[in-house]
Amino acid sequence: MFDPKLIRNDFPILSRQVHGKPLVYLDNAATTQKPHHVIEALRRYYEESNANVHRGIHTLAEEATALYEQAREQVAHFIHAPSARSIVFTRGSTEAINLVAQAWGRWALKPGDEILLTEMEHHANLVPWQLIAQATGATLQFVGLTADGTLDLAHAQALLSERTKLFAVTHISNVLGTINPVADLIRQAHAVGALVLVDGAQSVPHLPVDVQELDCDFLVFSGHKMLGPTGIGVLYGRPELLEAMPPFQGGGEMISNVWLDHATWNEIPWKFEAGTPHIAGAVGLGAAMEYLSALDMAAVRAHEQSLVAYALSAFERLNHDIMIYGPKDPALRGGVIAFNYQNIHPHDVGQFLDGEGVAIRAGHHCAKPLMRRLGVVATARASFYLYNTTQDADRLIAALQKTKETFSVVAHR
Ligand code: PMP
Repeated sequence: MFDPKLIRNDFPILSRQVHGKPLVYLDNAATTQKPHHVIEALRRYYEESNANVHRGIHTLAEEATALYEQAREQVAHFIHAPSARSIVFTRGSTEAINLVAQAWGRWALKPGDEILLTEMEHHANLVPWQLIAQATGATLQFVGLTADGTLDLAHAQALLSERTKLFAVTHISNVLGTINPVADLIRQAHAVGALVLVDGAQSVPHLPVDVQELDCDFLVFSGHKMLGPTGIGVLYGRPELLEAMPPFQGGGEMISNVWLDHATWNEIPWKFEAGTPHIAGAVGLGAAMEYLSALDMAAVRAHEQSLVAYALSAFERLNHDIMIYGPKDPALRGGVIAFNYQNIHPHDVGQFLDGEGVAIRAGHHCAKPLMRRLGVVATARASFYLYNTTQDADRLIAALQKTKETFSVVAHR
């Protein structure tokens, strides 16, 4: 039985106070809190098995290597990848996308080729493609949005052509919360011979993702957004693509043999892991996946969907003072709710809420083109996760009501 009240007990930070009030943490799209299980796995790794991987012949090095490679197996299992060979550890989603842009892009793209993106992408799934387009002569195309913040699917279909070499699309928008129909988009892209990279930074932590069912070519996500440590992330790639692609960075670990003037490459996935990796981070991510699997990702999704439905209807108590971005139907959105409140600047809203113990985010959310499309410079954003409750949503609404009262008093002085 999925019980967020019990789950909260696993997260020590959630029992702290902020400005004398119990913390309500609603900034999960930025990063998530860590359960005892993950903190304990990190402690145990450093206290018992810390060593560098792959290169040592002593016991600790063997243990560290086994733990690191076991984490890779756990990741493969979590997203139902056909083999751990298709799992590359990176620093996060950003580095994973840069890896594909640089390694695959430099190798595969030429002038006249097109990379298809959308108007709702995070800068991490935008700027790496701008850089590689400039370097190769490929051009960028963008799928537009409908009025309710979903992708314009007819536009996507119209833009896909034999010139499209890659469609890089977010699974869930970190601003609008929109869940994109990636399985359909992948089918359409494959029909014209394009590859598809799915930015799973906001989806893999929140709902079941099966790379074989989706049939995506690349999937990226970040450990810190799914209860794991910062500095560790994942690139899933189809093994035959990873085999064919040249390396991303050069250095130790990614080589098979080295001469003064040239080198040959290690097998995948290590070909893409130059230098000492974030071993403890991978171990912590493995522990996070154990924790999430025990809860069941379908239950995580169901909980968030009902919480967002509750929060969206609770927002109605604020009458017409609030502008909410993205689809109205909770079935079409993840746990992210971006909004603007009265004419109060989102930074002021965020600061006032912090004073009430409620942590949200305010800003452009690394999606400046989307902000321009919405006609705003910034929004406030509350984002929910498995340990949030309806009481958290109520605290958010109450704090917003208080914000309004305070600001109208100030405005009338
Ligand atoms: N894509 C999306 C949709 C995101 O929300 C984020 C993080 N906000 C990223 C990519 C980048 O993730 P990271 O900073 O962990 O590399």
